[in-house]
Amino acid sequence: MSNPLPAALITSLEGLPGFDRAPFEQVHAAAEKITSLRFNPLKVRTPGVQGNILAALSDADAARVPWSTTGYYLSQRPSFTFDPYFHAGAYYVQEASSMFLEHAVRATMDLRQPLKVLDLCAAPGGKSTLLQSLLNEQSLLVANEVIKPRAALLADNLSKWGAANVVVSNNDPRDFGRLPGYFDLVVIDAPCSGSGLFRRDPELIPEWSLENVALCSQRQQRILADVLPALKEDGVLIYSTCSFSREEDEVILDWLADHFELENIPLDVPEAWQIVPTVTTKRNCTGYRFYPNRLKGEGFFISCFRKRDMAGSGKRKETKQPVVSVKEKELLSQWIQLPDGYSYWPHQDEILILSPQLGADIALLQQQLYIRKAGVKAGQLGKKELIPDHQLAMSPLTVASVPVVDLELKAALQYLRKEDPGIDTSVKGWALMRYGQMSLGWAKILPNRMNNYYPKELRILKDISGL
Ligand code: SAM
Repeated sequence: MSNPLPAALITSLEGLPGFDRAPFEQVHAAAEKITSLRFNPLKVRTPGVQGNILAALSDADAARVPWSTTGYYLSQRPSFTFDPYFHAGAYYVQEASSMFLEHAVRATMDLRQPLKVLDLCAAPGGKSTLLQSLLNEQSLLVANEVIKPRAALLADNLSKWGAANVVVSNNDPRDFGRLPGYFDLVVIDAPCSGSGLFRRDPELIPEWSLENVALCSQRQQRILADVLPALKEDGVLIYSTCSFSREEDEVILDWLADHFELENIPLDVPEAWQIVPTVTTKRNCTGYRFYPNRLKGEGFFISCFRKRDMAGSGKRKETKQPVVSVKEKELLSQWIQLPDGYSYWPHQDEILILSPQLGADIALLQQQLYIRKAGVKAGQLGKKELIPDHQLAMSPLTVASVPVVDLELKAALQYLRKEDPGIDTSVKGWALMRYGQMSLGWAKILPNRMNNYYPKELRILKDISGL
């Protein structure tokens, strides 16, 4: 390992539940790289398809992540850039410990209900894609990121995920005070000092200091205090970090119990998972510590609370919904299979497809938040034609009659490089380019060539000639 762990970090961890210095230092020195991914149930519906994708990644026997229903460990790290399934949003490459969020959500929420969920610190989208996969179609996920370029990355990743019940916003946590009592579940995957990632990213080690831990702890308190008014009575708060430091973990739990009407929720966690429960001495709050020397994952901390006694949830303003005309609907129906309860939302010269809860609340959310993406963008509607958007290609909402062209691996990668793969097809006009039955994007097929509509900013830049 290039950088030794800071002595002040080790000293500060002594005495914490589950901390065992020698194996902790050894596992960091060994610097094993663990790769895991989580499938997208919207696109990968059967074990057969999962198997095909894992086999294509040369990992047909990939082991399950114990606390996730769709997570797998890979035995090596493949080049995801060269896997069209990655670009199709078939899976998200996510660190395994973080996938425990699924267990926490299943234990604390009734997922059959229509839920409004906020992922406040969401970029690049690991927790948001996981949350979206757990929610039903009547639910709504607001994935927020305060830093603008990171919000753009978050929007790209959620577009690729393909669901219409997601809004991506670019707001400061305090802006959510304008939506009092709105959310059933708020997830705060807080910015932190990052010691939990030192095995994976040793270059982060020199940036660590006790001063920064203290600053992070103060910032975490500020973020929590700002967003808590947006949580409804009886709603659930899930707080997580990738830091081992007490000041960002147990100290925050006690601070929450001291300052807010919050009741800590302990979880049932099988001992075999080797996740270490930690109970605060002051307020008896339970959190869960993930150590890389005990389990197959990086450092992580998580805890859940339920909110009690809220002082009024504020009135909503009624707003008028703009609608699309009958003629426009007819045109859209040539492209889109609109599920029951879903609606179209005309926005400037574009049409968005919104899930039921999002359709009901878009006007309110638009008034209060700076929205980067809402639902699925169908495309630009001209007088006679829809110019379909990439988000539509990434969603499961297209009608079966939309022409498709199935590409081989090489042609798929050429398409993803925004080249013309020179395919021989009888298809004419707009078509979905696919790989292994999964949509990659749009192309317009003309008599002698193809116009490639894959988004320029997403294209593969790496050379594929050697493949
Ligand atoms: N949840 C993400 C995931 O699973 O992919 C990772 C989130 S990362 C741990 C924390 C995020 O908080 C970063 O995207 C960072 O930009 C954002 N952040 C930084 N400062 C913030 C602040 N003051 N308020 C809210 N979010 C902040």
